[in-house]
Amino acid sequence: MEKKIYNFYPGPAVLPRPVLEEVQEELLNFNATGLSILELSHRSKDYEGVHLEAEARMKKLLGLGDDHRCLFLQGGTSGQFAMIPMNFLAPGRTADYLLTGSWSQKAYKEGARLGNVHIAANTEEDNFNRIPSPEEIKFSPDPVYAHLTSNNTIMGTQWHDFPDCGDIPLMADMSSDILSRPFDAKKFSLIYAGAQKNLGPAGVTVVVIKQSLLERIREDVPIIFNYKTHADKNSLYNTPPVFAIYIVNLVLKWIEDNGGLAAIAEKNREKAALIYKEIDESDGFYRGHAQKESRSLMNITFRLPSPELEKKFVEESTANGLIGLKGHRSVGGLRASLYNAMTLEGAKTLAAFMREFRQENS
Ligand SMILES: *Cc1c(COP(=O)(O)O)cnc(C)c1O
Repeated sequence: MEKKIYNFYPGPAVLPRPVLEEVQEELLNFNATGLSILELSHRSKDYEGVHLEAEARMKKLLGLGDDHRCLFLQGGTSGQFAMIPMNFLAPGRTADYLLTGSWSQKAYKEGARLGNVHIAANTEEDNFNRIPSPEEIKFSPDPVYAHLTSNNTIMGTQWHDFPDCGDIPLMADMSSDILSRPFDAKKFSLIYAGAQKNLGPAGVTVVVIKQSLLERIREDVPIIFNYKTHADKNSLYNTPPVFAIYIVNLVLKWIEDNGGLAAIAEKNREKAALIYKEIDESDGFYRGHAQKESRSLMNITFRLPSPELEKKFVEESTANGLIGLKGHRSVGGLRASLYNAMTLEGAKTLAAFMREFRQENS
């Protein structure tokens, strides 16, 4: 029998098994075309069906209608760090950034290269181990947008209540927690997410943008980096990453088939609770990086008593089929990524391993 492997990599990350099986099954003959999806024209009717379905499913899962567009772009999440200020940060205006980790810092840096930026909140002094409280957030007088990172993949923190921004257009990098829970997507003017964490394979970035925002784009944006270009051509201005979008569509269908966001969120809470319980009941053997009220349900970061034990933990967990638990170098220690596609069985197996490891090493 094949040994059970559980994938805790932060991204590219675990995909739902039924999706991979479906991809395998129809890889050589998509939709009775006798061709693989990999060799179909992006202008063909068969591909168009996938493309339109993926857009419709994404909007439906987010509870959005005609006021929003869903685009499939390239250049990764990092591409969006630049595209947002290129499109919206006009001369004489200011963009506000809420800094909660490395990714939001990178977004801020791209903004700073292109225009005026203001730091509305920053938890770097606390090693980004928490999300700022509403009182700490100080917006500039009339920002063109406010930007935040909903889940800090590296730090293991997550916004559980989004800040009230009034009339300021709110934009969010949701790469590592999009579709992991229900939330009011209408509050956001722009949401973007690289697919490789919670939506599918690397190669496509989903952008959900308010239709009204498309009228406020700077005149001088290169055509290919202009959101309006892609909205007008329905993300078919140039060749889109066909295969990645096809898999995203299957993942979205898998979410629907599994009860939608409310059911997914319930399962995510259950999985994360199993791991946090091991941390909290370990008498300090495991030390979580995130402060409790800011804990992420997607990426759980923790330290062990010594670097030697951390190394041993990685070695032994890997040998036991628990893959990808080494933390990011900037935080150190361990990180368990429990995206939508991680099974409850996987989380239980990790929790049991953590308990056993502690008993043997403390
Ligand atoms: C992974 C990640 C990124 C970087 O994505 P790329 O597609 O590699 O540019 C940005 N933001 C967050 C929150 C991430 O998790």
